[in-house]
Amino acid sequence: MIRALYIGRFQPYHNGHHYVINQIAQEADELIIGIGSAQMSHETGDPFTAGERVLMITGALQDLHKPLYVIPLEDINRNALWVSHVRAMTPPFHRIYSGNPLVIRLFHEAGIEVLSPAMYERATLSGTKIRDLIACDKPWEDFVPPAVVRVIQEIDGISRIRALNQDDGDCPGR
Ligand code: ATP
Ligand code: MG
Repeated sequence: MIRALYIGRFQPYHNGHHYVINQIAQEADELIIGIGSAQMSHETGDPFTAGERVLMITGALQDLHKPLYVIPLEDINRNALWVSHVRAMTPPFHRIYSGNPLVIRLFHEAGIEVLSPAMYERATLSGTKIRDLIACDKPWEDFVPPAVVRVIQEIDGISRIRALNQDDGDCPGR
């Protein structure tokens, strides 16, 4: 029995995360998704609350047909203790999947098996790029699962992101 952990900030959950998680689901029996920087919201780089991100992830993965645990993880700002913090908050897991060099390093040093999935269409599938598209009133809906579009609409996320980015002059052609 393999229970696998995948960690991201998911601001928002997008098709790159979705692709990787569906790959992981073929190799693991149960999945844990850790939502990093869970305490953050209403900032340009972190617009959505942990609870909103839980809705996005559970909505997008409702057809997974495997046990799924979505766990918010607050920052503790102390890297040497972070793996213990994650283990205290999550169901026991056997391996972790991450592309983040610091995450990889910290779990490797703790003796936990770490696998690094390849990036999938990273030119378009990045949280930063998708937030920029929303802020600049450009089409973004094709880059996230349909359930995520519905959640962002339900919580009025588009106007939140635009308000957080107001007047920063970063939209090309404006
Ligand atoms: P941001 O631009 O806000 O940092 P992000 O797209 O990098 O967003 P994160 O939540 O920071 O998303 O990333 C969580 C995990 O998802 C990381 O391990 C990262 O490597 C992975 N990831 C992000 N984008 C992709 C992608 N397009 N394909 C595969 N993995 C991805
Ligand atoms: Mg990132």
